[in-house]
Amino acid sequence: MKRSESGDEVAARNEINPAAFRRRLLAWYRGNARALPWRETSDPYKIWVAEVMLQQTRVAAVTEHYNEFLRRFPTLVSLALASELEVLVAWSGLGYYSRARLLHRAAQFIVTERRGSLPASAAELRTLPGIGEYTAAAIASIAFGEGVAVVDGNVERVVLRLTGRSSENTAAARGLVRAQAQALLPQARGTVSRREVQSGGGAGAQHCDNPAGEHNQAMMELGAMVCLPRAPRCSECPVNSLCRTRGEHPTLPRAAQRSQPVACLLDLRKRGPATEVLLERRSADARVMPAMYELPPLPLEAVEGLEPALRIRHAITNTNYYMQVFSSRRTAPAASLAPAISAGPGRAVKQTGATVRALRSAVPAESRELHWTRTTRLAGLPLTGLTRKILQRLKVMENPRIALPE
Ligand code: SF4
Repeated sequence: MKRSESGDEVAARNEINPAAFRRRLLAWYRGNARALPWRETSDPYKIWVAEVMLQQTRVAAVTEHYNEFLRRFPTLVSLALASELEVLVAWSGLGYYSRARLLHRAAQFIVTERRGSLPASAAELRTLPGIGEYTAAAIASIAFGEGVAVVDGNVERVVLRLTGRSSENTAAARGLVRAQAQALLPQARGTVSRREVQSGGGAGAQHCDNPAGEHNQAMMELGAMVCLPRAPRCSECPVNSLCRTRGEHPTLPRAAQRSQPVACLLDLRKRGPATEVLLERRSADARVMPAMYELPPLPLEAVEGLEPALRIRHAITNTNYYMQVFSSRRTAPAASLAPAISAGPGRAVKQTGATVRALRSAVPAESRELHWTRTTRLAGLPLTGLTRKILQRLKVMENPRIALPE
C-alpha cells in the first residue's frame, strides 16, 4: 500500500523548507501581530463570534462592534436565549445579517442539542449553521489547537506566491493550496483539550501553547499586512528568501508597476590569494533594509554614455528597478562581464582607466560606509536581495577565487 506523505514531505516537494518557514513566520508574528481583542481570549465562544464577524468584513469594523456584542451576549447561552431581533440590533453596522441569524440559530442548537458545548473539531463544527470550511478550521485550531490549516483568501494568496503556482479556480488547484498550507503547519499536537467547553467558561483551550492556532493566525496576518493583494511588501516580508515569486507572480493581480533606472558599482580587487569586493553598508536608520550590505550605488549622471557590464531587473512591491552594474575593472570577474564592457564603437563607451577612476570617485557614500569584503565571506553577510542576485549572476559568490587581471 502506498505510504501517504507527511506535511514536511509535501512542502519539501514544493521546495519550501517548512521548518525555516515556520521559524521566520512565527518570529515575525510574535513581534508584529496587531493587538486585536479576539486574540486576547481563549474562550471558544468568543473566538467563534469573532470568526463569524470577520467573514467578508474589515478588521476595523469588527473591532468596533465585537466588544459591544459580547457585552450584550457574554455567553453562548445568553446568545441562544436572546430574540433574533436583539441579535440583529447588536449586529447592526456589520452587514451580511444572515451571519447573525445563523450564529443565533447555531447557539440555540448547541444549547438544546449539545447541552451548551461547542464542538471542538473542524469536522463537527462544520455541521453547525453558518460554519463553513474556513470558519471551522479557524475555530478548531485557534480555540482547540487542532492541526488543521486555515485557508482564507489571504492564506491562498500567500501560498500561491510562495510556491509560484498559478491561481486557477478549480477544485484540484484549491486542493493543492490546502495541501501546501497544511504542509506548512507545525506538527500538530492534536486537539489541546478534547473536552468541549461550556459556553462562557472562558478557560477552555490554550493560547500560549498552540502551534497550529498561532501558525494559522500568523499566516492570515502575513496576508493581511505584508503579502497584500495588489502591492506585496516583499522587502519587509519575513519569508522573502523562501518565496519563489516575490511579488512577480504571473497570474495574480498586480498593481500598476513603475520603472526606476538605477546604477551601482562592482569593484573587485585582489589581496594575496583572496578576492575582495567593495560593499556599502546601509544606514542603521534607513527606512528600508537598514544596516544591510549592497553594491555601492552610483548616480545616473556618472554613468551616462557608458555601457554597463550587466543589466538586471529587480521588482520590489510595485516598482521595477532596472539596475545597471558597472565594473571598475576593464576585464570582468566572470566571462559574462567581458563582452558588455568591450562592446564595439557606437554601442558603448569603453571603460578606460580614467572612467574607472571616475566611477570610483562618483560613489557618494562616505568611506566609513564602504567595506572591502572577501568574496568568501559574502554568503554569511546580510546582503540586499538585489546585490545577492547580481553577485550570484556574475558568479562572484559561487566562485570565491576569481582570477582578476593584474
Ligand atoms: S516575498 Fe512578497 S510575494 Fe512572497 S510571500 Fe512575501 S510578501 Fe508575499
